[in-house]
Amino acid sequence: MQNKRVLLASRPSGWVSEANFRIEEAPLPQPEPGEVLVKNLWLSLDPYMRGRMSDAKSYVKGVELGEVMVGQTVGEVIASRNEKFREGDKVLTQLGWQLYGTTKEAMRMPESSAPLSCYLGVLGMPGMTAYFGLKEIGQPKAGETVVVSAASGAVGSVVGQLAKIWGARAVGIAGGAAKCGYVRDELGFDACIDYKAGNLAAALKEACASGVDVYFDNVGGEILDTVLARTNLFGRVIVCGTISDYNSSDPYRVRNWRAILVNRLRVRGMIVFDWKERYGEALAALAGYLGQGRLKYRESVVEGLENAPRGLIALLKGENFGKQLVKLS
Ligand code: NDP
Repeated sequence: MQNKRVLLASRPSGWVSEANFRIEEAPLPQPEPGEVLVKNLWLSLDPYMRGRMSDAKSYVKGVELGEVMVGQTVGEVIASRNEKFREGDKVLTQLGWQLYGTTKEAMRMPESSAPLSCYLGVLGMPGMTAYFGLKEIGQPKAGETVVVSAASGAVGSVVGQLAKIWGARAVGIAGGAAKCGYVRDELGFDACIDYKAGNLAAALKEACASGVDVYFDNVGGEILDTVLARTNLFGRVIVCGTISDYNSSDPYRVRNWRAILVNRLRVRGMIVFDWKERYGEALAALAGYLGQGRLKYRESVVEGLENAPRGLIALLKGENFGKQLVKLS
């Protein structure tokens, strides 16, 4: 058996291209004492990976040139030199873009009827992001209006559904009629605005007649600016992501900054791992809602490790529809 892995070959300037990656075969790694050898089954593709391809200062160091691309995976233990794991155990790891890897830091998957891929999406890091961002920073009250951008995506879809479960109104913003229809009709948001149809400000005014109490921002840029102008007194803004800027060398400059002052907004950046001590709480809540049929999700799957670069590029361009995954086996 040979390993196959995707390495960072060069740093993108502007949009990522397939030429930024190199695919190579390598000998199967052997586990050291305390390690397990894992066969990866699913690889998660996430917008943060664009940041890791860069060497600009961020909250986590970037991938070095020639290193395996970072990423979370779900896999199966095929050899163990760690007494806590046995062959056949299903584990969550950070083994990155490769078919096999060794690690000491595996987390055994809980007994559950949910498919394994859910632990990379609705029950995984994106679900946790939605849960803690909305609960702890957004603090929505019953009857308030929560707006979320990238509403059909991995994080956004959970944000709006949690807002509904917790008694608030949920208004999504997404690109295109198909995504908006899904957000409204299948996920049960009260409204969803197609920002690509133009005139976001007017559509937002109509969908949020009594203003915006909580804005969960996944995209930054002009959408953030437009929502800021509709915020209510003492509104909350969760700064979760700025995907509209990830491939730009000239970041958007917010014009409606003054809304923060006038409306005494609380604007807070969030990084999901700041809540890592409480992941168990989020997992229990999200798995409960999923089991009750109150939380729905959708996945975009590309097949085969060699297609991971194409999958990441599609995700950054908004071509995914739901959580973007790579099926490895
Ligand atoms: P998604 O599944 O939402 O996919 C990304 C979506 O972003 C696309 O489908 C697209 O949706 C939208 N998008 C892309 N480009 C633009 C643009 N120029 N303007 C507006 N929307 C755009 O990804 P995730 O749910 O995994 O991530 C969503 C956001 O949350 C990202 O910004 C990510 O970095 C952030 N994040 C932050 C975390 C944290 O700890 N702070 C943790 C996890 C994610 P559409 O077609 O609707 O435009």
